[in-house]
Amino acid sequence: MTTELAQRPTDLERPSHQPLAGRTCLVTGGSRGIGRGIARELGRHGATVIVNYRSSEDAAHEVADVITEADTEGTAHPIQADVTDRTEIETMRDAVRDAFGPIDVLVNNAGITCDRTFQKMTAEDWHRVIDVSLHGTFNCTQAFYDDVKVADHGRVINISSVIGKQGNVGQANYAAAKSGLFGFTRSLALELADSGATANCIAPGFTHTEMVEAIPDEIQDDLRAEIPLERFASVSEVAGLVRYLASKQSGYMTGEVIDVNGGIDL
Ligand code: NDP
Repeated sequence: MTTELAQRPTDLERPSHQPLAGRTCLVTGGSRGIGRGIARELGRHGATVIVNYRSSEDAAHEVADVITEADTEGTAHPIQADVTDRTEIETMRDAVRDAFGPIDVLVNNAGITCDRTFQKMTAEDWHRVIDVSLHGTFNCTQAFYDDVKVADHGRVINISSVIGKQGNVGQANYAAAKSGLFGFTRSLALELADSGATANCIAPGFTHTEMVEAIPDEIQDDLRAEIPLERFASVSEVAGLVRYLASKQSGYMTGEVIDVNGGIDL
């Protein structure tokens, strides 16, 4: 018998039905849409999930209840904080640390749109979108940086968008915020690397959520026509990738921008 076969498996190799058991994951904007799907996917795989929300209190509690009541090791806990407000984020960080200790995984998902063609775009439209998607990611990452750095396999996962790569009419603010996340993620990956923690970015294409349902039907049809897979993504198709990135298995992938866009730029 070779020593290879006789070796004890490492934690990474040992099979488990609950690969995220023991990991604490915070999802910003976890009350609805993609964030809700991510929270549920992480919980389904055994994580302790902190479901951050800004205003949808009932929805966030419902997400947490569904996760906690499911027949898995996963549990979830809603917590209110506006990602644009550093004081609220620091208060959230302290409350999470008191209750659960440092987090292992931060998913910066909260984002909004405020679409207007460039000539009509106001400074307020510009700042609102940048504030949530880009400054919010900065605020949360800075608040939880030390947690992720000392964690066993710490992770930062930023939710960007295909629009950050392609741009879009009426979305100069959103495209700027989302492409800003690419450079942010790469820089963060370099700064985290000596600790073994990773930072990655997911760039989903159009995904079935309220954000997309707000687009008029005829424009949705036009958008679908440009996608080689001829459909929008499901939330679970994005959430599944987050689950992989949150796991210890993804440890050698860092600084990446990963497309989940139905082949739109092929
Ligand atoms: P939704 O509008 O469905 O949900 C947005 C979520 O973000 C809500 O949970 C909302 O919480 C939260 N949120 C908004 N502002 C804040 C804030 N200031 N502080 C804390 N939470 C906040 O959006 P999606 O699920 O569609 O989008 C999620 C992410 O995915 C966004 O970053 C978006 O840009 C990105 N994305 C979406 C795509 C799509 O097609 N849907 C495609 C590509 C990327 P609350 O309700 O409590 O205010």
